Amino acid sequence: MARSRLTKQKRAVLEAVLRSRTHPDAAAVYQEARSLLPRISLGTVYRCLESLTEEGKLLRIQGAKEAARYDAKLDHAHRICQRCGIIEDVAGDQIQISDLSRQLVTAAGSFQVREVAIELRGLCAACQEQLGFSEAAAEDLGGIQAKRNTQISWNR
Ligand SMILES: [Zn+2]
Ligand SMILES: [Zn+2]
Repeated sequence: MARSRLTKQKRAVLEAVLRSRTHPDAAAVYQEARSLLPRISLGTVYRCLESLTEEGKLLRIQGAKEAARYDAKLDHAHRICQRCGIIEDVAGDQIQISDLSRQLVTAAGSFQVREVAIELRGLCAACQEQLGFSEAAAEDLGGIQAKRNTQISWNR
């Protein structure tokens, strides 16, 4: 990683995302970045997030509802609740996302891939509880893997 080419601002923004374990949105990154670089502006944070994402140093996750979230650990999949919007990492380091990503990039042919995001969308445990979801009802949702994360459902 060519860290030396990062500006002071970009380094602070990247560090702010790395420190967070909660997939922060731009506002939360701004809060954290200010503790590293008190004079950084929200506009600069947005610009840094954008270019770090373009450079592949950050992953942008678009949730079900809210603002985009950012993540610095690139090699994992996310589960996104379509009801409350929570974004969590899919546990299981044994899942070889990078192998899967490479295969997809190869399959994309001449298309210039800039970002590969693997997302499972459905209902989190808390929302299932609130809705009184049974396993059978979850299966009625069709493509949505509401109950188990054993299968990847592609979103496009
Ligand atoms: Zn939920
Ligand atoms: Zn994540």
